[in-house]
Amino acid sequence: MSICLFCHHHYIEKPSWSKIFSNNKSESICQHCLSNLKKLEGNRCTKCSRILLKEYSDVPICYDCNRWEKNQLTQSLIVRNYSLYRYNSFLKEILATFKYRGDTIIASYFSQKLFDTYQAFFSNAYVICIPLSKERLHERGFNQAELLVEGWPNKEYVHLLMKNERSKQSKKSRRLRLQSFQDNPFFIEKQNIDLSLNNIVLVDDIYTTGTTIRQAAIVLKQAGANQIFSITIAR
Ligand SMILES: [Zn+2]
Ligand SMILES: [Zn+2]
Repeated sequence: MSICLFCHHHYIEKPSWSKIFSNNKSESICQHCLSNLKKLEGNRCTKCSRILLKEYSDVPICYDCNRWEKNQLTQSLIVRNYSLYRYNSFLKEILATFKYRGDTIIASYFSQKLFDTYQAFFSNAYVICIPLSKERLHERGFNQAELLVEGWPNKEYVHLLMKNERSKQSKKSRRLRLQSFQDNPFFIEKQNIDLSLNNIVLVDDIYTTGTTIRQAAIVLKQAGANQIFSITIAR
């Protein structure tokens, strides 16, 4: 009997040949939770991981990314965002438990999955967490993104980015969000930091509109960063 990391119910792990032969670590979540986690796979936007509809099977990037790329301000800021799962109601609840109650066991599950992606695609890049503002950090007690990269390598710059407190941007219209690039909440406190020729992977829990990642990317580009990628649990 094992206890599911997500729902805390007891469950019996099904033995499988692939597990026995490939030395696969067990999933540590129950079949029910596993079936509710929807991996983003198949025909996806090559920029942001969004699943593309069949009608658009011949285009490589989604409508939103197309608009980001057409705008001079945000063009080529991000090489690629890699998200693991669909942000459905199940994952929303799991991430809320993780984020607001600081469930580090949930973090460890996703940390491993994100790390597999990091190793597969971005292993030469420096890891930087999307920060919380001081106020928010004080309120919550921890930064969820930092829990996700515990034990990872290449963390020399992990705390490089800082964030000012400001109004929530999720409620703003797209036009207002574009304007928000003028008063970017992210900044780097250290003077004379030179990231020249370094590739960066930004880590966060959710990719929603793509604004946050791009605002962070602008600051890093100004500090000389070369290619910027991002990895998130959900999209
Ligand atoms: Zn479960
Ligand atoms: Zn996209």
